Amino acid sequence: MLKEQLKEVERRIQAACDRAGRKREEVTLIAVSKTKPVSMIEETYQLGIHVYGENKVQELTEKYEILPKDIEWHMIGHLQTNKVKYIVGKTALIHSVDSLKLAETIEKEAAKKNCIQDILVEVNVAQEESKFGLKVDEVIPFIEKISQFQHICVKGLMTIAPFVENPDDNRPVFANLHKLSVDIMNKNIDNVNVSILSMGMTNDYEVAIEEGATMVRVGTGIFGARNYQI
Ligand SMILES: *Cc1c(COP(=O)(O)O)cnc(C)c1O
Repeated sequence: MLKEQLKEVERRIQAACDRAGRKREEVTLIAVSKTKPVSMIEETYQLGIHVYGENKVQELTEKYEILPKDIEWHMIGHLQTNKVKYIVGKTALIHSVDSLKLAETIEKEAAKKNCIQDILVEVNVAQEESKFGLKVDEVIPFIEKISQFQHICVKGLMTIAPFVENPDDNRPVFANLHKLSVDIMNKNIDNVNVSILSMGMTNDYEVAIEEGATMVRVGTGIFGARNYQI
């Protein structure tokens, strides 16, 4: 079952790349394994998927301990400052940096561990009340500030688009995040290269790829529906 679903996602990613005139290598598939058991990840790992996204610190660190060390873990969920210490050094990329306080905490923890933590800035492009993330016009001043930090490297932007029936409705959201990244690039801020655009989930990753996504975060499409009662 996992094999077929993965194949279907892969087929659709390729088709979206073809439509957009992009190369498949430009897009990284992040398999969002939250709530899913280690056994399922072992299965997709065997099928060649080595990049996983989790949204809870405890779940990420538990899976990190058990699973092969060449897995690349991405923290995609809202991150509380008091939990930063558990994931710095274990996470390839933190997608959800949305406050100075959080950035300062990551900086401090990465300095302690003598590493550089790659991060994305989360942007609430659609301005949904319920969502985390900076407003579009807050992003450049924020990046200018944290670009001075020695142990953080800003690699790009992330957004969580609204849930919509028709994925095409999210096209402007993705296009706006892309445009914002171009504006930031044009500022030539030292130490900042916002080449990663993390956008698109099961419902809308094809549209996101057409609009320039370089990372898509796909959970349900690979692992099936989540059961939060477990
Ligand atoms: C759960 C989650 C996803 C994956 O959602 P699906 O609709 O299951 O693909 C992607 N991004 C974030 C931030 C998530 O929390």
